[in-house]
Amino acid sequence: MVQEPFTISSGEFLDLMGVVPDQGRSLDEARLLLKQYGYNQIPQYKPKSRSRILADQLFDPIVYILAVAAVLAFVFGDVMEALAIVSVLLISISIGFFMELKAVRSLEALRKLGEVKTTVVRSGKKQIVRAAEIVPGDIICLQRGDVVPADGRLFSVDNLSIKESALTGESIPVFKNDDILPANTSLTERTNMIYRGTTVLTGFGKAIISTTGKNTELGRIQQMGVNAEKERTPLETKLNQLGKRLIWLTLVLTFLIVLIGCFRGKELLFMIETGVALAVASIPEGLPIVATIALAQGMYRLSKKDVIIKKLEAVQTLGATDVIFTDKTGTLTEDKMKVYNLASSKGEVLDVEGGDFKRRVKHDPVLNRMIQASILCNNIDVNVDNPTGDSIEMALIGFARGLGYDVNAIKGEYPEYLELPFNANRKLMATVHHNGDFVVYAKGAFESLISHCRYYQDENEKKPFGNTEEWYEKIDSLAAQGLRILAFAYKETEKAPTEDTILDQLVFLGIIGFLDPARKDVKATLDVYKKAGIKVVMVTGDHPSTSKKIAQEVGLLEANASPTKIIRGNNIGLENSQNKERVQRLLNATIFARVSPEQKLNLVSFYQQNGHIVGMIGDGINDVPALKKADIGIAMGIRGTEAAREVADVILKNDKFTAIELAINQGRVIFQNIRQFVVYLLSCNLAEILSVGFAALLNLPSPLLPLQILFLNLVTDIFPALALGLGKGESDIMDQPPKNPKAPIINRIQWYAIIIYGFSICASVMGMVAYAHFVLRLEPIIINNLAFYTLVLAQLLNVFNMPKSHGSFFVNEVTRNPWVWGAILLSIAITGLAYLIAPIAEALSLKNLSGETFTIVLVFALGSLLLAQLLKRLLAFKVS
Ligand code: ATP
Repeated sequence: MVQEPFTISSGEFLDLMGVVPDQGRSLDEARLLLKQYGYNQIPQYKPKSRSRILADQLFDPIVYILAVAAVLAFVFGDVMEALAIVSVLLISISIGFFMELKAVRSLEALRKLGEVKTTVVRSGKKQIVRAAEIVPGDIICLQRGDVVPADGRLFSVDNLSIKESALTGESIPVFKNDDILPANTSLTERTNMIYRGTTVLTGFGKAIISTTGKNTELGRIQQMGVNAEKERTPLETKLNQLGKRLIWLTLVLTFLIVLIGCFRGKELLFMIETGVALAVASIPEGLPIVATIALAQGMYRLSKKDVIIKKLEAVQTLGATDVIFTDKTGTLTEDKMKVYNLASSKGEVLDVEGGDFKRRVKHDPVLNRMIQASILCNNIDVNVDNPTGDSIEMALIGFARGLGYDVNAIKGEYPEYLELPFNANRKLMATVHHNGDFVVYAKGAFESLISHCRYYQDENEKKPFGNTEEWYEKIDSLAAQGLRILAFAYKETEKAPTEDTILDQLVFLGIIGFLDPARKDVKATLDVYKKAGIKVVMVTGDHPSTSKKIAQEVGLLEANASPTKIIRGNNIGLENSQNKERVQRLLNATIFARVSPEQKLNLVSFYQQNGHIVGMIGDGINDVPALKKADIGIAMGIRGTEAAREVADVILKNDKFTAIELAINQGRVIFQNIRQFVVYLLSCNLAEILSVGFAALLNLPSPLLPLQILFLNLVTDIFPALALGLGKGESDIMDQPPKNPKAPIINRIQWYAIIIYGFSICASVMGMVAYAHFVLRLEPIIINNLAFYTLVLAQLLNVFNMPKSHGSFFVNEVTRNPWVWGAILLSIAITGLAYLIAPIAEALSLKNLSGETFTIVLVFALGSLLLAQLLKRLLAFKVS
């Protein structure tokens, strides 16, 4: 492999690689090279291997405790008990292993969905492939907004500038060329090379790939800091912290119970075993894994609806988002730009559909120039079959062709000599064409262009331009109809203009109005957001009146809305953000128009500083900083540039604004499910600890034997808990305000809920024990069995306590969740089998019981549900 392709000519390098530019690699070659060099990826972290996952299960405190218990049982001569504990140990390890394996696998699969795409020439045809499939020697085509997929040597450059800050930290764009450079040229000065991870700001380029994956410059740098393990999501961290705190609480409680039991004359070994079982039962070691599964499941569900979530934690942040910044074109409008009307420098507004328009254009020198400008000051590649690009420029080409202009011939006749590319700050672009003399064409926002116009064109003459105010009024009234307005200008010179002189003394030609209809489906989504307490703000580079009209059409702004709802970029004035009135005005605004990328970014920060969780929708390269800064960056899949997609957390594959609603809904559902899951598990665990504790304290027969506790937690409880994690959420979840993402998973209300449910279950178990002991006067082992079944059933019924208190008991997200019903049936079936299969029944000390006794069990178990519901509704707290 050639080490330094920048030191030789591009032709030499292509020869060395054995590639012809028009042909590229053949499909077979590419396949072979992919095998040889591997995917063009930089491992951010190594996915956990199976052996690592298994090892993690083995080095778990629960495993140590169970192992000690098994050894103790063996030493004390209870072989049966020892074997039973070992089986429980194996079950526990397997559950942990398979759950984590599923989580790791689904994450890997989901990660692939959000990858960068690249245009490559293979076997003579242009095709779009995943950037991961790029191989050395591939010919790639770059345009504005693309993210460079790998390192390569340029061989064709057309006004190509690249932002290399991701690699070099330097934010000034680097203009590229095809020169030969000396061997000692530093990375930042290698203008004939492109580097992975950098972004195309302007122009076009073709390059041959020299290195891929971890051998690229970026790969080498990143490899230095590869961390072997994935960072935890904030949710996992929170659950982990909660788990750790609970371990201590449990150990203290267990120790107390063992002490009390011994004082009350119970056998030491029995009490130690009970203590061990309780400790194992109540340590919520599975919490973080369940969170990962719930999040991954949410990502998966969304991916089927064309919403790609790139980072796991984004699902949760989405649920908390309370402000969405959106651009206009393509998000709130169809992005089907069409030329609607036109006014030449004389001022008369002409309807382009009008009967005699076509005829008039040909004879009107000013109109004719405007069409020339539309064709030439335009970056659409008209030589390809299905050209793509900026929708305004596409509309202009379509317009010129519709009028009978031979676009290709005109482009050929006036080759481009220089370009001042469009950028969102300047809001205009200009090109210089050479055909004997030089002619400059420029187009852009009226305010931006007019400051460079000294003259206007009147028939064949240029006259001094003066009536700016009149034009502002005209543009305002056209924009108020929802039209996007573009102004045009030109000049002819003998001397070649430079970038500094290109805009001097332009001649104003006129304006063109474009119609881009508002999207019909947006209104319904905006209503949903309103109910969900999410504020939508339009942040656009377009004219305030155009933005206002579109906002009114989609229902973002009422017809009689106060003018203070619309703020122009140059009036934002964030530097005075100490002023309370100004802060309030900025927070109340619905539209920010004519904003620059920097202002967009500052607005995101400003809202964040004022306590908002900001989602930002963007598609252009100018949106990248704000997308990064927002709590949730959302990019469009079809229309978005690669750069926007690369930094975004969420990609809407079908470009539908409405899809974010699904994502927010999913985020909320997942957070709620995880809460319910945690409340359910902890209340069940508390019930067990309390029941064993009270029995020890009151010297009653033990309601739970050690193996029964293990059976409950590792075999029966787990299924309803997992089912809660897979629920589809409350039907009115989008009618609630967003949750503060900083709020703990379990706040005061959830703790109350855990205590009330735990006590209700414990009360029914103790009631059963007391009834069987004092009234029925049964023998201790039968009392124990009755208490055990009561606990099993009461815990299964506890799932129905999870929905919020003011909703219906019969119709809610839990009763509607088929997984819950399946889990209950499965748990009952497993308990039934344990009762019927003699060796298991013996290990669990389960005796034969009459049908009548099961009726008593049912009554007491239902009693726990009744009590919990009564307390919950009386105290009116909600668990959501
Ligand atoms: P939106 O919110 O509608 O998506 P935006 O924020 O992306 O808009 P820009 O595309 O930056 O806005 O456009 C800002 C202004 O720049 C437009 O109102 C228009 O006057 C001008 N403009 C847009 N595209 C071009 C172009 N291709 N050439 C010249 N000027 C342009």
